[in-house]
Amino acid sequence: MATSREQAKQEQQLPPPDGDFYGLIGTLSQEDRDLLSQVRAFMQEKVAPIINDYWMRDEFPFEVLPAMSDLGIAGLAYEGYGCPGKGTVLDGFVTMELSRVDPSMATFQGVHSGLAMGSIYLCGSEEQRQKWLPQMARMEKIGAFGLTEPEIGSGVAGGLTATARREGDEWVLNGQKKWIGNATFADVTVVWARDLADDTVKGFLVEKGTPGFTAEKMENKMALRAVQNALITLDECRVKEEDRLQNANSFKDTAKVLRMTRVGVAWIAVGCGMGAYEHALAYAQQREQFGRPIGGFQLIQDLLVQMLGNVTASQCMILRLSQMQDAGEMKAEHASLAKAFATTRTRETVALARELLGGNGVLINYDVGRFFADAEAIHSYEGTRQVNSLIVGRAITGFGAFL
Ligand SMILES: Cc1cc2nc3c(=O)[nH]c(=O)nc-3n(C[C@H](O)[C@H](O)[C@H](O)COP(=O)(O)OP(=O)(O)OC[C@H]3O[C@@H](n4cnc5c(N)ncnc54)[C@H](O)[C@@H]3O)c2cc1C
Repeated sequence: MATSREQAKQEQQLPPPDGDFYGLIGTLSQEDRDLLSQVRAFMQEKVAPIINDYWMRDEFPFEVLPAMSDLGIAGLAYEGYGCPGKGTVLDGFVTMELSRVDPSMATFQGVHSGLAMGSIYLCGSEEQRQKWLPQMARMEKIGAFGLTEPEIGSGVAGGLTATARREGDEWVLNGQKKWIGNATFADVTVVWARDLADDTVKGFLVEKGTPGFTAEKMENKMALRAVQNALITLDECRVKEEDRLQNANSFKDTAKVLRMTRVGVAWIAVGCGMGAYEHALAYAQQREQFGRPIGGFQLIQDLLVQMLGNVTASQCMILRLSQMQDAGEMKAEHASLAKAFATTRTRETVALARELLGGNGVLINYDVGRFFADAEAIHSYEGTRQVNSLIVGRAITGFGAFL
């Protein structure tokens, strides 16, 4: 027999947790909204039930890849080469949907579709695009992107130590790459190295199993644990000239890829904050203390409103950024501002969400703890807040302050 309080609760229609407070998804076409609904269903049905377990075990859920590939979201923004050509705005919303349930899956997609496919799309020859992009769009081949090194992270623009030496029709690669997402299993890794002859940075497509290429899984991460990051060692690794990215002539071309993918990381950040907010709100609606749902306490509502403000401000900012990107108006400083802002706001949002859950906020099976930890990695990868601030600072003041 239900108590009168339970009956009253059943009768009361509580608003469903929804981090799209300004209805931005509603501005998309019906066709685009249908795709987003499919992505949402995939994440809720296939990923949400298993991801905490994979995250705790530090493993990637390969079992969901066939269903993810059926969504047709790899290379979503690119034109031609088997890619849907849907533009950056929809790509961004899809990224947000992935991250809203799990930032590790969004990061997997960001590395494969953004960094790896993006390098080939922006810096590859016609033949390289024809060879790789259609099978990567179908996710038959998975990509990775190797730029960061053990001793060089923020300073990659001028300081890469991995080297490329030309010998006839081949290049010989030497050095190490650290943190490389997907690289333990990727079919192809884009490796960036400095040409010993002219000192410029070049990109190389290194296929799995190439002699001299080893990718060792990095253990013990406290964030994005389902993402498989590798320490890559290149030891006299030979790559054919035809596998050098033909239109990557200096770090400026690498930077074009990063400018594009930083937008994606901003969407990952906002999805992470949105997921944490929605879980926190659902919890506040059902968790009772002092005889009533904690969502009815003024101080808890204030936490939720702070979170929602962060999420909504970030969404609006990044939507405009993606519109600028689609219109060809986006500069590096525009992407950097959004990446730095969204990740900083998300860091606050996930901390407030964790606080709202009390002790349960540190239990992984309540999800918010996973978002809390994952936000830390998102804050640092693809340019830390400081590095992105310096990019914006240089643009607005006219003074470069990197050194
Ligand atoms: C989970 C995860 C996944 C990743 N995936 C990939 C990947 O797939 N491919 C890839 O190539 N890389 C990847 N990275 C690497 C990532 O891009 C780097 O970690 C990031 O660029 C920062 O480099 P770093 O870790 O070496 O830090 P450092 O560069 O050593 O920075 C340390 C601190 O110094 C600050 N700092 C540095 N320079 C300045 C300056 N001039 N002024 C003020 N402060 C400064 C930084 O902001 C930071 O706080 C990944 C990282 C993580 C954590």
